Amino acid sequence: MAGVALVLEDKVALITGGSRGIGAETVRLFAQAGARVAFSYRQARERAEALAVECGGEGRCRAIEQDLATPADGRALVESAVEAFGRLDILVVNHGIWPPHDAPIATMAEAQWRQTLGVNLDSVFGLVQAAVAQMEAQARVGGEGRSAKDGAAGHIVLISSTAGQRGEAFHADYAVTKGALISLTKSLSSELAPKGIRVNCVAPGWVMTEMSQGTLKDPELGPRVAAGIPVGRPGDPQEIAGPVLFLCTPLAGFISGEVLNVNGGAVLVG
Ligand code: NAP
Repeated sequence: MAGVALVLEDKVALITGGSRGIGAETVRLFAQAGARVAFSYRQARERAEALAVECGGEGRCRAIEQDLATPADGRALVESAVEAFGRLDILVVNHGIWPPHDAPIATMAEAQWRQTLGVNLDSVFGLVQAAVAQMEAQARVGGEGRSAKDGAAGHIVLISSTAGQRGEAFHADYAVTKGALISLTKSLSSELAPKGIRVNCVAPGWVMTEMSQGTLKDPELGPRVAAGIPVGRPGDPQEIAGPVLFLCTPLAGFISGEVLNVNGGAVLVG
């Protein structure tokens, strides 16, 4: 059968927040593509362990419990992933929180601001820092780990949001963190592409997950949101996982520092 395969054979990937939603579909797809996958969860232990078994168990896929709210948490997770599989080729930073209730800036609790920045941004600093150190160490060992096809010594994909590009009224804390991930992507591209580490960003729009279902399944809000998306519906988690996978393959070998919009065209009309 003719076709083009997206293959991650011999690669080790760490995917944060893999127990549910977009992260879980990304874990499945990366495992199907042949990667060994470590993924993190915070609370959803049963679902995480079932997913790890579904994706091949112990030798192929591991669920790691890790709260991610500080740089130290991020570094600890990378350490656990490397301990599990001996190396790291791909980091997908997917975990995140979106406090669902409207919070006007004049009254937003400082605790909410701190928590959102801690989970969505501070932990990312630690994750990226430790992952890059690991990828650089691997590359130093005789270029080991560099793919012959794209010369990549590693891939990092950060999951942002349309909110990071156009802001989000009453969710300034969330939008600030997602905008920062775009700046981080661009900064790291210039810094790390010369070392063979590709850094890119995927920015989803509305996707049906537990994070968004309160809004998307609301009989009044749901249809209003869908009407604002040119393709006429929210996305499916798999439709985010696919573009993330693509960015980690040699087919995307000349893409660095890009923000890949995956939002049914919504960011252009919002
Ligand atoms: P989700 O269904 O709410 O899943 C969130 C994941 O992150 C879970 O695996 C969760 O672990 C983990 N997590 C949450 N807080 C954590 C913490 N403090 N420490 C460690 N892990 C934590 O979210 P999603 O909708 O799939 O979203 C995934 C990413 O896409 C997020 O970065 C989000 O901002 C972004 N995004 C989503 C949408 C959307 O419409 N859904 C739109 C734009 C961008 P547990 O399961 O163990 O709690």
